[in-house]
Formats: sequence, C-alpha cells, structure tokens
Amino acid sequence: MQVLVLGAGVIGVTCAWFLRDAGHQVTLIERRPGAGRETSFANGGQISVSHAEPWANPGAPRKILQWLGREDAPLLFRPRLDAEQWAWGLAFLRECTAARAAQNTRQLVELGLYSRRMLKRLRTELGLAYPHNERGILHFYTDAAGFEVARTSAALMRTLGCDRRSISPEEAVALEPALASIRDRMVGADYCAEDESGDAHAYTVQLAERCASRGVEFMLNTTVQRLLLDGDRCQGAEVMHEDGSVTRLTADAIVACLGVQSRALLGPLGVRLQIVAAKGYSATYDIIDPARVPNVSLTDDEYKIVFSRFDQRLRVAGTVELGGMGLELNQARCDSLTQRTQTLFPGACDFSQPRYWAGLRPLTPSNVPYLGATRVRALYLNTGHGTLGWTMAAGSGQLIADLVSGRPTAIPLPSVVAQK
Ligand SMILES: Cc1cc2nc3c(=O)[nH]c(=O)nc-3n(C[C@H](O)[C@H](O)[C@H](O)COP(=O)(O)OP(=O)(O)OC[C@H]3O[C@@H](n4cnc5c(N)ncnc54)[C@H](O)[C@@H]3O)c2cc1C
Repeated sequence: MQVLVLGAGVIGVTCAWFLRDAGHQVTLIERRPGAGRETSFANGGQISVSHAEPWANPGAPRKILQWLGREDAPLLFRPRLDAEQWAWGLAFLRECTAARAAQNTRQLVELGLYSRRMLKRLRTELGLAYPHNERGILHFYTDAAGFEVARTSAALMRTLGCDRRSISPEEAVALEPALASIRDRMVGADYCAEDESGDAHAYTVQLAERCASRGVEFMLNTTVQRLLLDGDRCQGAEVMHEDGSVTRLTADAIVACLGVQSRALLGPLGVRLQIVAAKGYSATYDIIDPARVPNVSLTDDEYKIVFSRFDQRLRVAGTVELGGMGLELNQARCDSLTQRTQTLFPGACDFSQPRYWAGLRPLTPSNVPYLGATRVRALYLNTGHGTLGWTMAAGSGQLIADLVSGRPTAIPLPSVVAQK
C-alpha cells in the first residue's frame, strides 16, 4: 500500500517506521526542514507509564479553580473567546467522574506498558544510540496529603501491571543521592524501576535516518494545506513545497500525526477532534559537576516539573498553560525552572547559560490519544498524545501500522469519542 504519514514529530516518525517495516511504501510529509522540530524537540524526556493517570479526575476541578489566575500555577487556564476551547473545557469536566477517570487510566496504562515494551525492543533491534537512561523514574513529594493520594494511585497502578512502589525519603535518597538537598522536606516518594528517560529529539532524528535508509520518502519543508476527499474516502493531501508550488499527493491510506495542528486540518472533513494546545516549558543546562546531578529521572511533585539527564546535559521541564498557540517564552516561568533546579542541585550545572524552550502538547480532554480509523475511509489518526507523546509513540506507531495492514493489534485501540 502507498501510505502518507502527515507530520514528522516523534509520533509520525515512529509510525512511519512501523508502516515501512510492515512492507508499505511510505511518504512522510513535514513542514519543517527536519524531523522532531516542534513539540518533540525539547520535552521532559520521561517514558513515564507510572504516572500515566489522566489529569481529568474527581479532584481536578477544585484544584484548577484554586489555580485560576495565578501566573505561577502549575496549570494555568487562560480563558479566551474561543468556542472550541470552552467545548474542550466542558468535555474535560465530563471526564472528571470517577468512572471515566478509571476507564481512561486503564487505557493509558495499557497503552503505556505496551509502548514501553515496543520502545525497548525497537532500541535493541535497531541499535538506536540516543542519550537515554534506564534507571527508572522517581517522583518525590513534600506535601503529606499529596503523598497519601499518590499511595492510592501507586496501588492502582500495581493492579494495572505497572510496578510503582511507594518509598520512604531515606529509600529515595539511597536511590538518588542528589536528592539529599531536599531530604528534610521530603515526605515520601514513589519509584518505578521499569520506566526510563531519553532525548526524544535525538531518538526522532535517528529513527528518521533509519526510515530514510529503509526507503521511507521524506518531503521536508512541505506543508499540508488540506486533505482531499472523494466521496466518503480520503484520497490524499494537497501540499505546498518550499518554492510555493502546490502538488496533490494520493495514497491508499493517510495517517494524521499533526500534533496541535490536527484539529484545524481534519475539521473540514467533518472529523472533529477535541485537542487544545497545552503549552509547556523546558530548560537545558550543561553539567559541570556530574556528582551533583540526578541520574535517575525525577519528578518534583511540588513544582510539577521533571528532571532528566542526557549525557552531559540536564533537562528540566513542566508547567501547563491552556489556550493559545503562541510559543513566546514567559520569563517568570523560565526563571522559576532555573531557581528550582539551582536550589535542588546547587553547583551541578552552568546555570548562567540556560537554553529555554516552549512547546505545545496536543491535549485531549481525557488524555487518551486519538488512535485508529475515522469515519472517512482511508484516513487514520495518531494524534492527541498530550503530556505523554514520547511515552506512547512506539506503541501507537505499531498499533496504527497493524490496523492499516489489516493485522490484529496486540492490545485494543483506546477508545475516545473521535467524532461528533
Ligand atoms: C514541556 C514539555 C514536556 C514534555 N515532557 C514529556 C515527557 O517527559 N514524556 C512524554 O512522554 N511526553 C512529554 N511531552 C509531550 C510530548 O513532547 C508530546 O506529546 C509529543 O512531542 C507530541 O508529538 P507529535 O509528534 O504528536 O507532535 P509534534 O512533535 O508537534 O509533531 C507534529 C509535526 O507535524 C508537523 N506539522 C504540523 N502541521 C503541519 C502541516 N500543515 N504540514 C506539514 N507538517 C505539519 C509539525 O511541524 C510537527 O513536526 C512534553 C511536552 C512538553 C511541551
């Protein structure tokens, strides 16, 4: 089959690999000059199945109200005159019931576990050598009530097959000595040894090279302008090249991996996706004293930020601003990342030269991505992975490749209400 994959982020490139591996002729279309240049560029790096719980849960509405209007809030909702944003907000509230949260958690953990296995297999089989760390993820807490809630979540995760263990501050510091600076304030932690971390951009670029050498055709600097419809079937896409010329590309199957742009491009075909842009920040520092840097990937529950070490660099990432597609850097948010990192790991990095970055997570109300066929024949979705696109890329790519190839999928496709 001839397959068009739209978008070369971590999701599109991984999907293209599995489609090619299944024997298809694959063309990957990307508006940027290279792979992984948008949201997959400088994320937190965590392959985090142990914290795959959706944001929408019975306690979320109260928390979000408390944070409303606070510029330094971990989750900042910027209300706008945008009907789609309000519709998303209502859908989010509907996902906050205990029953919906339980169903979404189960689906996310199942996809996360499968994806983590597929990533490990892919890395071994292809000998991918991007900076990564297999020492697990440790999430630490300074608030007793927050830790109590986390203990319940950890127990739930274990019943779903993810080995997330609640541990004492002493055990946490034994696992990661760089946490000694916060030992006295820490009330507990949880740890998942099978989770890992790695540089998603380096992985994406390397896998893109492998795709190219296996025969995937790359059309870079090429923008998808619209999808082409023939009756109830998607025929292909109209694309604009760097020189302004326009071409119509046809295919047997089209897979949309367009991140935050998915909604706008699929809407005209009647495929209404509920995806908002959830802006986040990261900072990357050069390491100057490796002994003070965490080797285990960490999550700081108080600040809702993560730390991942990639060889000689430390990445810290987090914060969420809902609403708007702007990528401008808010200096207060950038400074707060550096201040917190300096407090936790003094002298570890060159904090005078931070490399700040912002990206837009394609977020669905349930956190569950859109994976699968649409009601438009030949058009498939692999998008809306929100906070966990790196974690779920390998599993999502394999599932879509199986679906397009007419093969049984190893796990059921997660179900979200993809269309109205
Ligand atoms: C601060 C931050 C921290 C994060 N930390 C983590 C983490 O620790 N672990 C984790 O699992 N996830 C994390 N994420 C989430 C993860 O980065 C995303 O879910 C993932 O990158 C989404 O990948 P994607 O391929 O769907 O989107 P993208 O990487 O944005 O790829 C979409 C591609 O489509 C292209 N495109 C769009 N429109 C067009 C068009 N019209 N024509 C052609 N091409 C087009 C874009 O140029 C882009 O390359 C984080 C995100 C942020 C912002």
